Amino acid sequence: VISKLPQTGTTIFTTMSALAAEVGAINLSQGFPDYESSPELIELVTKAMKDGYNQYAPMPGLMSLREQIAIKTEKLYGAVYNPDTEITVTAGATQAIFTAISALIHPNDEVIIFEPAYDCYAPAIKLMGGVVKSLELDPPNYRIAWDMVKRLINNKTRMIILNSPHNPTATILSKEDIDELSALVKHQDILILSDEVYEHLVYDGVQHHSMARYPELQQRSVIVASFGKTYHATGWKVGYCLAPAYLMQEFRKIHQFLVFSVNAPMQHAIAEYLKDENTYLGLPDFFQQKRDYFREGLKNSRFKILPCAGSYFQSVSYSAISDEKDSDLAIRLTKEFGVAAIPVSAFYRKATDNHVLRFCFAKRQETLDKAVERLIKV
Ligand code: PMP
Ligand code: GLN
Repeated sequence: VISKLPQTGTTIFTTMSALAAEVGAINLSQGFPDYESSPELIELVTKAMKDGYNQYAPMPGLMSLREQIAIKTEKLYGAVYNPDTEITVTAGATQAIFTAISALIHPNDEVIIFEPAYDCYAPAIKLMGGVVKSLELDPPNYRIAWDMVKRLINNKTRMIILNSPHNPTATILSKEDIDELSALVKHQDILILSDEVYEHLVYDGVQHHSMARYPELQQRSVIVASFGKTYHATGWKVGYCLAPAYLMQEFRKIHQFLVFSVNAPMQHAIAEYLKDENTYLGLPDFFQQKRDYFREGLKNSRFKILPCAGSYFQSVSYSAISDEKDSDLAIRLTKEFGVAAIPVSAFYRKATDNHVLRFCFAKRQETLDKAVERLIKV
């Protein structure tokens, strides 16, 4: 066959998790918790199955879940989304992202992404015949130079993809970024795809700037979220998409043929669990503690600890330790020291390698202790 994605291999997450398993390393590479989700939530899923909710959910998602998502979104961001026409439950954020890009990108449309970028954006754009325009951001602060973004915009620019809190750099968009973005798109026919899967993982008392907060951005935005992140259950693959009705109408045309609907018992359980805002309001404290604990431990290592304002990732620079390629060091770290990390070069389309590794700190304290014990030997 003629490959539709000739440059694309197997994802770095699959590769590093497999290597970690093979050599028995502590896996801080792929982002997922090594502790259980809440017993109450698991009980609710079991109950939903026993109660017979095992057949197709409605195509856009269970209404009770969409209603709870609408309540949560209004409470947190002041935005009113109509559950009937503006909220769709998806098989994780990944499906929401792919669906949004398929629904909205035409051949030759240009899409601006910021690199390092989460790995699922560019392949979807290319599959639709779109053109990826990337702007590389530099460590340690990875700030967006908005004047550079402006230079990338022309009459083919169809979409800008944003991700805050950001994977892998752990940066967040500031109010200044929002103002720059608003000014930039104001008189343009440009959509925003906003990947907000780490919306609750923002630290140091700072607020998350969801696109939903800003009406002029909200009306051109598709926002994606993930219950896998929020409820420590990445294997459930349940997320959702928020968009104004004119965009959601197109989104659902694809969604209905991609998955039709998402697993029913989890939706029943999450709809119930989401009623209690404490199930997500405590997340910043919960993860900030882990972040601080891990960073404190790393202070005894030779790695340079980069800033972490949000997400459950901590990046480090190893320029003072080695001049190896980051992918080589990630493999060596896994095999020789027993800790798996993600080489950040995997998030660039070019061969950019700033000698940065990413660790996931959504782990039990014992796991972080053991990992730090090994990392200080590097
Ligand atoms: N976007 C970002 C930035 C992510 O880190 C992830 C990964 N976990 C996803 C999307 C995909 O989320 P999900 O597991 O819900 O598909
Ligand atoms: N989002 C997770 C990460 O960045 C990985 C998810 C996946 O493996 N697709 O580690």
